[in-house]
Amino acid sequence: MTDSMHPSFDTDVLIIGGGPVGLGLAIELGQRGIRCTMSERYVQPQPIPKGQNLTQRTMEHFHFWGAEPELRAARTIPPEYGIGGLTAYGTLLSQHHYDWLQRELVKPYYFKDNERLPQYETEKVLRQRAALLPQVDALYGWDAETIRQDDEGVAVTLRERSSQQIRHIRARYVVGCDGSRSKTREQSGITQTLSDHDRCMVLLVFKSQALHTLLARYPGKSFYNVLHPELKGYWKFFGRVDLGNTWFFHAPVPLGTTADNFDFKAYLHESVGAEFEIEFQHIGFWDLRFALADHYRAGRVFIAGDAAHSHPPYGGYGVNSGFEDARNLGWKLAAVLQGWGDEPLLDSYDAERRPVFASTINDFIAKSIETDKDFLEKFDPQQDRVAFDQAWAQRSQGAVGEVHAFEPHYEGSPVVWHNSAGSRTCSAKGAHIYKARAGHHLAPARLSNGKNVFDMLGAEFSLLALGSAPHDTQVWVEAAAAAGVPLTVVHEPAGHEADRYEARWVLVRPDQFVAWVSDEASIDPTLVQALFKRLRGNSSTEATTAQQVNLP
Ligand SMILES: Cc1cc2nc3c(=O)[nH]c(=O)nc-3n(C[C@H](O)[C@H](O)[C@H](O)COP(=O)(O)OP(=O)(O)OC[C@H]3O[C@@H](n4cnc5c(N)ncnc54)[C@H](O)[C@@H]3O)c2cc1C
Repeated sequence: MTDSMHPSFDTDVLIIGGGPVGLGLAIELGQRGIRCTMSERYVQPQPIPKGQNLTQRTMEHFHFWGAEPELRAARTIPPEYGIGGLTAYGTLLSQHHYDWLQRELVKPYYFKDNERLPQYETEKVLRQRAALLPQVDALYGWDAETIRQDDEGVAVTLRERSSQQIRHIRARYVVGCDGSRSKTREQSGITQTLSDHDRCMVLLVFKSQALHTLLARYPGKSFYNVLHPELKGYWKFFGRVDLGNTWFFHAPVPLGTTADNFDFKAYLHESVGAEFEIEFQHIGFWDLRFALADHYRAGRVFIAGDAAHSHPPYGGYGVNSGFEDARNLGWKLAAVLQGWGDEPLLDSYDAERRPVFASTINDFIAKSIETDKDFLEKFDPQQDRVAFDQAWAQRSQGAVGEVHAFEPHYEGSPVVWHNSAGSRTCSAKGAHIYKARAGHHLAPARLSNGKNVFDMLGAEFSLLALGSAPHDTQVWVEAAAAAGVPLTVVHEPAGHEADRYEARWVLVRPDQFVAWVSDEASIDPTLVQALFKRLRGNSSTEATTAQQVNLP
């Protein structure tokens, strides 16, 4: 198997691991015309109902991956039922509860609605989509064993699990999407920082129609988080796998618990606050800990998804962050392999995605465990009902704030250009607003032609020329051509919904993040040239802001 264009390489990118993130990356690369091979250990997706909450942003990825209708059709809970969350105190049926993780609150800032389905269903849809792309060679049932790199490429040994057949593949780049115990990470010498919470968690999957009947009082809810004073901020977490029948539950159990030495039925009854019939389908365990790789890149090897960051599944950040890794790295690898990006562009993957995940841990997941622990220590309805009710009402407002505040952005990125100097960082903490801001996700807007701006964006860079005459964009077209950067220009007159961007020019990256924004009427060609150099990842330009080239 030899790539016809590059005889010394079997493929341009070898992806190790075909879970959701590896599959997403294969599709991203395949659609961009990049030849890739993906090796996945299992022939079939593993039937564990994890990774269920797919955010609006993730559904934008599915739109661009050409798999949105298929994914929505694979949903296991009917659309009319709803996929909201609920937090309760003490037991699931307690009188103290409020709506939780109402992601619909931020829907106006994204092009697509959120979705919910078990991860194995998502993986099936992604496998089917990848199979339609001639650039993607998907190998199921193949385990990656050794990964060795030199200056020009990476050699990987694969073994087929059924036949023990060995295959050697040489790739220009390797991306490890092989989960939290990533061999790619270990063999490429990437260390990780662990924060061990020393908690053993159980994952139960069970059937119970009686629980569906008991929860009829919470219509439209599909996942439930029970706070209990004894658990010090760690949750008892229930979720529907389908409507009316199958459920998952995860919660702390004593260290040393096995499938045989613990009464899981009693634990579930106590957590719900009622007795009900249960038929167990799966009893598994996982360690509650946070792990963040110290680098996402080692030479020609990258890691993405759980291989780069793993954490308790509180708040549904895991698979969604992994998909964003795939989107971020995918266009950069394509740019470098196709020659419209320079090699340093690949370093921006780590520079953007790693701080975002550190912030996801510190500002959201670990923080929520701490906040819940403090609350449970301070307030008890048996002791002071008035104080508890007040604090509980405040928490329900806080839950709204958390959804709005989770807005991952790349303000501090080397592939973003600001109009003034300043100290900026990449973070998961931000705010949802319509105004276009450098480093932030572009909000959708309906254009004068009736289409959404997301339907007009090109696959690479796009310039939104808002209220400008067509000849004003000539300087952009020439500078992009000179820099070799593919550019789509979208003209839109003033007086329509795109006015909410509060800008005349918005330059949008291939992943729908804003690279640069300006309200100036005319743009100097020198600035545009410097800007495109920077967006290619060209380190020879030292200017990092419009101010530094003294323009405009
Ligand atoms: C109980 C539970 C509930 C969760 N709920 C949510 C949720 O609601 N929302 C959310 O966003 N996240 C959730 N998560 C987290 C989410 O499941 C993970 O973030 C997600 O699976 C990460 O995807 P991945 O592709 O990076 O890794 P994985 O899903 O772990 O996929 C890695 C793949 O690599 C393959 N592989 C490993 N080693 C090799 C090798 N050497 N060669 C070939 N193949 C290999 C594996 O077989 C696997 O298919 C949950 C996790 C758990 C445990």
